[in-house]
Amino acid sequence: MGNNAAGTPFHWGKGVHSQQDCLQNSPQEVPSTLSRSSLSPKPQEHPQASHQDQNHGSGPESFPELLRADETLDRALRPLSFDDFVGQDDLVRNLRIFIQAACIRGESLDHVLLHGPPGLGKTTLAHLTATAMKGSLRTTSGPVLTKPGDLAALLTQLQNHDVLFIDEIHRLPVAVEELLYSAMEDYRIDILLGQGPHARSLQLTLPPFTLIGATTRSGLLSAPLRDRFGIALALEFYNPAALSDLIMRAAKGLGFALTPEAARCLAQRSRGTPRIALRLLRRVRDFGGNGAMIDDAVVDCALNQLGINDYGLDRLDQKYLHVLQRFFGGGPAGLDTLAAALSETRDTVEDVIEPYLLQSGLIMRTPRGRKLTDRGQRALEPLS
Ligand code: ADP
Repeated sequence: MGNNAAGTPFHWGKGVHSQQDCLQNSPQEVPSTLSRSSLSPKPQEHPQASHQDQNHGSGPESFPELLRADETLDRALRPLSFDDFVGQDDLVRNLRIFIQAACIRGESLDHVLLHGPPGLGKTTLAHLTATAMKGSLRTTSGPVLTKPGDLAALLTQLQNHDVLFIDEIHRLPVAVEELLYSAMEDYRIDILLGQGPHARSLQLTLPPFTLIGATTRSGLLSAPLRDRFGIALALEFYNPAALSDLIMRAAKGLGFALTPEAARCLAQRSRGTPRIALRLLRRVRDFGGNGAMIDDAVVDCALNQLGINDYGLDRLDQKYLHVLQRFFGGGPAGLDTLAAALSETRDTVEDVIEPYLLQSGLIMRTPRGRKLTDRGQRALEPLS
C-alpha cells in the first residue's frame, strides 16, 4: 500500500510478500569470481571496475558508493559488439549495412541522429558504431557546449573516422549549432581570431568524422540541423522477449542465476527500457539471497517492495495517473498544470514519464491536454 496524491492509501501492486519474506538470506555478496563473459568492459576503459565489484557487499555501503557501484556495473554490462546488442533489430540491421558500406568505400559514416526516450541504448549504439568504424569515440552533450570555442576544441582533436557523440543535441546553444553546420557539411570550421578591427577569420579543415546526435525530443531540433543528418534512426521501447534476453545475459555477466520465468516477470515490469531492467535486476539480486536461483516469486516480491506495480509502473508513473484522475477528473489537463501538481519539471514529465504511458495506451494527448484512457483507469486499480 502507498499514499496517493490526495493522501488516501492505495495499492502500489499485489503486495503479496513482505520484505522479510523476500529476503531468502542476507543481501547477496557478489561472487569474487565474477563471470564477465562477453559483456565485460575493456580493461583499459574501466580500471576500477573489478576493484569496486570485489568490495561490493563487504560491509555497510553509503548511498553514493552504491550508486557508483551501479554505474560501474552499467559500464561493465554495456555491449561490446552489435552481436551483444539485444533488440531494435531493424535499426541495428540498417545501421550495420550503412557502416559496412562506408567501410568498403573507405569513407566516414554519414552523420546519424538517434531519437528515443532515455535508457534505450543511444549512447551504447554510439560506442558500437565507433568500434565498428575503427575510430575513437568522443562524447559530450548539448548543455555542456556553452560556446563555439568548446565545440571547436573538440572538433580539432578528431582523427579520420572518429565519432563525435553529442547527447541531448536539442539543447545546443544557437551559436554552437551554427558552427556545427559547416563542420558536418564540408568538414571545415571558420574561427574568428581577435576582436574589433583586428579580428580575422581562420578556416580549419577537419578530418572526415561522424557526428552522432542523440535526442529525446527530435521535434525541438531546428530544421537546418536535422537536415544535415544523413541517417535518422528512432529507437522503440523493447518488447518483453528482447528484455528477457537482455536480463538473462546481464544476470550471467553479474554471476548469478535467474530462472527464465523470473526474467520474463522482470522484463514485463521494466517499462520496455534496458536501463530500468538492469537497475531492477541489480535490486532483485539484493533480495535474492546468497547464490540461490532467483525465481519469479522473488522478482514479484522485490518489485512490489520497490513500488513497481503489475503494469511495470513506478511510483512516479502511478502518481501521474492518480493526479490526473483525482485532481483533474481523468483530464484533459495541460502539461504545465500536471508538472506543477507533480512538483516535477516539464521536461521530466514530457521526456521521462509520458512516453511510456502514451505508448502503453494509459494516457492520450488531446488538443486540450492529457487524458486518462480506460486502460489507464484500470492501471490505477490493483490486479486481482
Ligand atoms: P541512452 O543513451 O539511450 O540513455 P544507454 O545507451 O546509456 O541509453 O543505455 C542504458 C543502459 O542499458 C546501458 O547500461 C546499456 O549497456 C544498456 N543497454 C541499452 N540498450 C541495450 C541493448 N539493446 N542491449 C544490451 N544492453 C543495452
